[in-house]
Amino acid sequence: MLDRIHRHLRHHYLQSIKQKNMTEEIEKVRVLIIGSGPAGYTAAIYTSRAELKPVLYQGLQPGGQLTITTDVENFPGYPEGISGYQMMEDMRKQAERFGADIRWGVITSVDFSERPFKVVADETKTILADSVIIATGASARWLGLETEEKYRGYGVSACATCDGFFYKGKDVAVIGGGDTAAEEATYLAKICKKVYLIHRRTEMRASKAMQNKVFNTPNIERLFGYVPVEITGEKNVDGLTIKNVTTQEISNIVVDGVFVAIGHTPNSAIFKGQIEMDENGYIITVPGSTKTNVEGVFAAGDVQDTHYKQAATAAGTGCMAAIEAERFLNSVS
Ligand code: NDP
Repeated sequence: MLDRIHRHLRHHYLQSIKQKNMTEEIEKVRVLIIGSGPAGYTAAIYTSRAELKPVLYQGLQPGGQLTITTDVENFPGYPEGISGYQMMEDMRKQAERFGADIRWGVITSVDFSERPFKVVADETKTILADSVIIATGASARWLGLETEEKYRGYGVSACATCDGFFYKGKDVAVIGGGDTAAEEATYLAKICKKVYLIHRRTEMRASKAMQNKVFNTPNIERLFGYVPVEITGEKNVDGLTIKNVTTQEISNIVVDGVFVAIGHTPNSAIFKGQIEMDENGYIITVPGSTKTNVEGVFAAGDVQDTHYKQAATAAGTGCMAAIEAERFLNSVS
């Protein structure tokens, strides 16, 4: 559902800008930050306090992935926890308080072949940046089933907090065995009649605390050792076909919704060919730093993190990127 809305918004947003036929001046900035999760906002807080007048483009999902999670209980400083949305609003306001220029818009192409780096926003506006901090995060991964694409927005979702409401009192399935799957399943269990948690192995990789929550929720039925093979339905989802990985036996479960929670893909497509990344699209940084193979371009948060992927670590690397960008700018000016 959210996916469809994002694609729709993006299309209309870019169309409206083109129709205005704006002939904008080329803008010069010291630090351009791309992305508005904890990494981007932390970089904005630090670089604005360093009086570098950062410009930050928020992207299509201002606030990033945390805005679609429920409560965040593991970010230091919030003894009672805080909603992901509120936390990101607070980070944005904190950055703006020090003068960061935070903009609603999307970076559509980059050219890192020479400095200043040439970056295009919303397909129309050219920005010349002395340094760039990439903090574009990651997006939900999909199973790759044909029927998954067909029913996206009609019973297939990757965000329980966005779409769970539509399944009040119904039966749903959650796919995955990580912290996201555990979180989505426990969240949905509060709204739905029954939640099937379908995982391909017999062990979850989710943290012990999250596993305990799953195991102690009576209306979550664990179907471990199963993979989804097909989603069924007329216009909307009405069932899921699953296969037992040991016996290869096929069975069907009756559900109105399928929530895919199998991890994320880094949002690095626009940097392809411009910067070094690994085979999965994660931007490669020099160990212990946020430096990329392009001098003056730094990467922070989930787009370069194959391991921790936490709000706290994203904020930490955002801080590192800001300090490294400042040092870089001092060294070249
Ligand atoms: P993970 O990569 O941790 O887990 C993905 C899960 O999906 C795994 O169980 C994996 O199975 C399964 N999977 C992957 N591909 C497929 C497929 N094609 N078919 C079926 N199953 C598949 O991703 P998460 O999004 O859960 O978590 C990412 C990071 O974010 C983690 O570090 C996590 O700790 C963190 N996180 C923390 C939260 C919190 O602290 N509140 C909340 C959410 C996430 P397998 O195990 O077999 O590989």
